[in-house]
Amino acid sequence: MSTVRRQIVRIDESRCTGCGLCVSPCAEGAIEIVDGKARVVREELCDGAGFCLGVCPTGALSIEVREAVPFDHEAAEPIVAAKQAEYIPQVCFRCGRDEDAAPLLPVRHQGKSEWVCTRCLPALIHG
Ligand code: SF4
Repeated sequence: MSTVRRQIVRIDESRCTGCGLCVSPCAEGAIEIVDGKARVVREELCDGAGFCLGVCPTGALSIEVREAVPFDHEAAEPIVAAKQAEYIPQVCFRCGRDEDAAPLLPVRHQGKSEWVCTRCLPALIHG
């Protein structure tokens, strides 16, 4: 298969603990835990958007630009639909609202990776 130069997720295995937090934010199912480490198991399913980055507690995830197979929209579509059907919404660690009630953002807070809703974010920033 031909390749293109594009953004794609990079996983630093030396930093990865295999916690699995990055698996569910990937709507396309590109990341799985294999032998205790996160891996991009199908490069054509990684769109390089980086939604997984914010949840990694060790900073193992980053975006790089390199030669890779193109993102495959058609292959990703049924996977996204299947994951949405069984998706469990994340909740804000401060108020408990889920992402249907308010948009959630991943934040690093007191050494932890958390989700915070946009209503609670100002209080988190300003104290
Ligand atoms: S969130 Fe980070 S540490 Fe956890 S499995 Fe993913 S890459 Fe590894």
